[in-house]
Amino acid sequence: MDLSKYNLKRDFNSTTEPRGVIKKSKNELIFVIQKHATSNLHYDFRMEMSGVLRSWTIPNGPSMNPEEKRLAIMVENHPYAYKDFEGTIPEGNYGAGNIIIWDSGTYSLRNEQSIEAIENKFKSDLQDGQFNFILSGKKLNGEFVLKRMKIKQKNAWLLMKKEDQYASKTNVLNDNKSVVSNLTLEEIVK
Ligand code: MN
Repeated sequence: MDLSKYNLKRDFNSTTEPRGVIKKSKNELIFVIQKHATSNLHYDFRMEMSGVLRSWTIPNGPSMNPEEKRLAIMVENHPYAYKDFEGTIPEGNYGAGNIIIWDSGTYSLRNEQSIEAIENKFKSDLQDGQFNFILSGKKLNGEFVLKRMKIKQKNAWLLMKKEDQYASKTNVLNDNKSVVSNLTLEEIVK
């Protein structure tokens, strides 16, 4: 899996973000959502696949309400170690601003058990433009779908909650603390 775009955008003498290297979880597949205050506040949704984190930027954040579709822009792969990153990207660097780990956990599929089978399904579903998965996070749980939009902009997807016992109209974004440090985006400054 390719991390060259990620590495090219960063000066590792200046940012404390991890260098791009391929690494995997042992017996699970993880996801992480980072809340990131650059010039635009957004949420970065990342899912482990083949030793990297496939990544989408969600301007309005995820929703637990199946009636709300959230635009998710596919961006470059991030290294596995990025799942643990929170803090501040210094001024002058790509993505400068504060980041907290807003949610984290694992993902699974309804009909595939082995990690290899899940990753293969993920890969082919991304090609096909629709991927259904189950999140087991601290804030997000249950079935979701990522669907590529049928527009010219090839990296535009929609993230939607599916109807299940976790679906809710309560705004999950109101819970604005890191699941790691329990700090808000404003408090994380290091
Ligand atoms: Mn970001």
